[in-house]
Amino acid sequence: MRYISTRGDAASLDFVDVMLAGLARDGGLYVPETWPQLEPACIAGFAGRPYAEIAAEVVRPFIGGGIAASQLARMAQEAYGAFRHPAVVPLVQLAPGLFVLELFHGPTLAFKDLAMQLVARLMDYALKLRGERLTVVVATSGDTGGAAVEAFRGCAQVDLVVLFPHGRVSEVQRRMMTTAPDDNVHAVAVEGTFDDCQALVKAMFNHHAFRDQVRLSAVNSINWARIVAQAVYYFAAAVALGAPYRKVAFTVPTGNFGDVYAGYVAHRMGLPVERLVVATNVNDILVRTFATGAYSLRDVVATAAPSMDIQVSSNFERLLFEAYHRDGRKIAALMGSLMQSRRFLVEAHALATIRAVFSAHRADEQERAAAMRAWMREADYCADPHTAIGLAVAEKEARDPTVPMVVLATAHPAKFPETVREACGIVPKLPDGLAELETRTERVTVLPPDQSAIERFVASVSRAAKEGAAA
Ligand SMILES: *Cc1c(COP(=O)(O)O)cnc(C)c1O
Repeated sequence: MRYISTRGDAASLDFVDVMLAGLARDGGLYVPETWPQLEPACIAGFAGRPYAEIAAEVVRPFIGGGIAASQLARMAQEAYGAFRHPAVVPLVQLAPGLFVLELFHGPTLAFKDLAMQLVARLMDYALKLRGERLTVVVATSGDTGGAAVEAFRGCAQVDLVVLFPHGRVSEVQRRMMTTAPDDNVHAVAVEGTFDDCQALVKAMFNHHAFRDQVRLSAVNSINWARIVAQAVYYFAAAVALGAPYRKVAFTVPTGNFGDVYAGYVAHRMGLPVERLVVATNVNDILVRTFATGAYSLRDVVATAAPSMDIQVSSNFERLLFEAYHRDGRKIAALMGSLMQSRRFLVEAHALATIRAVFSAHRADEQERAAAMRAWMREADYCADPHTAIGLAVAEKEARDPTVPMVVLATAHPAKFPETVREACGIVPKLPDGLAELETRTERVTVLPPDQSAIERFVASVSRAAKEGAAA
């Protein structure tokens, strides 16, 4: 399988190179040259199979020859074997035709674990085959950092540095990044905001001498390997509800558009997805775009669902690429306009293509809190604030009562104890094994938001840099 850039101007690459590269050289995002198809009989065969086996089958056609099928199957077993629930992603019914898909039973209690646990193993394995090392740097507003630390700790070929805004992540989120004992993972508290952290990562990527010195790589949500790993749970959930003989709809709490786009990938592979509903909080750029065609940036508003507090939904570019019949030049022009004037217009024909599969609604902070209270009262179900946005939005979508609606539960409520207490009056408990987070020793380096200081730190922990210097 080869991958091409959404901006049409970068060389095509294979799966392993795309996974290790992240962003394309022309600034675009990689997508597969063609969509692999899973026949209805193959999808039907997923019923009752362990999650790791479904994962290996869904991911395999995207990898091609780069990694042997038996190795992929082994890595999927390891990645999902440590989840706290035997179904890995259990479905919970809240009302007739309404389900939540719990994606938070991994080590750091958010859906990021599902992709990160597999991708870290795939990266480490591919690098070992090549005899190479990488340094992965991630900026995080909370959930991604912990998921990356848990996934990459102990990896022989990768050193990981996580940059998070000092004093601006929750205590649980911070401890998930700072308490891993492994010496290949490093947490840096940057004296600044999440935007500062992200700008620092971007600046390091643009500093080519440094980038080559430490063999810099990224595992942010635009990494194609993460998207593919997320398509798996759409198959697992739909099959549990009767696919491929019955259509299923999904509502997805959305930030960077990676998770809901993975649902589109499943749809393009042959899964009968009736509708994908994008759920946003008051940071509603996607809702406005779907309504009017105008994608226009505004300032980010902080909410109790911080992983959805975004300005630019990066993975939306991949959907636009399809809606414009894979015209890379057109996408490059739209993105140029976004840089120049903070907006672009999606043309009517492309908007119609998008609306044929996608809807979008927003829920504000009152609606989010009301949904948390209502589901607690009516179904004794404690939803985290992100999931609650999904539940509030699912109510707004006009639905065919014969099509089940699945709301993706993206985080465990215990990750946001204050917000849950305010809305529902209870404090959700951390699962067994995580309660001791509070007593583990923290290891963290506090640094100013200064590129050369951060680069010195990254170089000092990078084994790739040391080997390069010795060679
Ligand atoms: C990352 C995250 C999201 C947003 O997912 P995207 O793929 O960026 O759209 C939603 N909820 C939680 C809890 C998250 O961690």
